[in-house]
Amino acid sequence: MKAKISMRAFFVFLGAVLMFIAASPGLARAVSIRVLILADEFKSIPAPNEKLKLLDKELAKLLVGDRPYSGDVEVWRGENSLYLIDSVDLEDYVKSVVKAETGSNWALEALKAQAVASRTYALYQMQKNKGLLYDVTSSVLNQVYRGDIHDDKVEKAVDETAGQILVYGGQPIEALYHSTCGNGTTEDPAEVFGFSVPYLKPVTCDCDQSPYYSWARKFPVSQIENATGVGDIKDIKIASHTDTGRVKALELDGGNGPVMVNATDLRRMLGWQTLPSTEFQMDFTNGYMDLEGSGYGHGVGMCQWSSQEMARAGKNYTDILSHFYPGASLVNSDGVPAGGVQQATTASGK
Ligand SMILES: [Zn+2]
Repeated sequence: MKAKISMRAFFVFLGAVLMFIAASPGLARAVSIRVLILADEFKSIPAPNEKLKLLDKELAKLLVGDRPYSGDVEVWRGENSLYLIDSVDLEDYVKSVVKAETGSNWALEALKAQAVASRTYALYQMQKNKGLLYDVTSSVLNQVYRGDIHDDKVEKAVDETAGQILVYGGQPIEALYHSTCGNGTTEDPAEVFGFSVPYLKPVTCDCDQSPYYSWARKFPVSQIENATGVGDIKDIKIASHTDTGRVKALELDGGNGPVMVNATDLRRMLGWQTLPSTEFQMDFTNGYMDLEGSGYGHGVGMCQWSSQEMARAGKNYTDILSHFYPGASLVNSDGVPAGGVQQATTASGK
């Protein structure tokens, strides 16, 4: 390969389903976020010490698979893969994320709560990853970003909350959220991620209208053995629960004796969708792990389906945010408290 190679030739070389549509001038951007695009063609994340070289940077519209992306697009060549980074206006990014992270016909106030949570989460990541190649990925590893997708109601929700974020101690909070807690109480991050912060405490929740509220799964023991690497499993038991009643750890009775597996680790090993949550009951019979469960996601922070229920019941987005992020304050981009916001409530529920 020649040292100087055109971007188009490079894509053809890689067989990526990707093309430039048109370069177009853009407006001056106030705040932009750098998003590593993860898609079928681009699955890799740069390793911590991977050598990277910028091949090209264009203000362009880009099609990756069937998804169009606008902004400054950078193509980086690493030792293991090719990487695409889309540098996009933060508010445009939030519009795309809110659309991707919510259902159709969601209540405006729930969309506004999601807009503030997603914007805050993005700013938190931008601060945390300062100096790194990118701020967030476009996948569920962070927040789902699908490029240019338009929705009038979502754009209204983002515009009406433009620049507003949640802060604690003057800093953007780690505004975690999930689809459906399925438990009646959200989860303590200490149980899932191993850290505690004052604004992410278990609070009461009502999300029984969610399509993920109730589920069943049946895994043959071979699937558990393959996922965990524990061989000859004869029995599986729930070993412990978290304070909110979710499964904390399981005991796998393998050929080399009992092995404890953290329930969140089991979700990761099986696939987050394959085991939707750690809120489940379990039977182990005839070589099958039989589960009846509820919810989808880690259960920490804002429960999206509950926020939708709260909005339908007449709550506004500030009510929703102060419920799920107790003690955090809503401020405008200049740090001034946003109008009409209830400040600093304490955690309800346990
Ligand atoms: Zn919930």
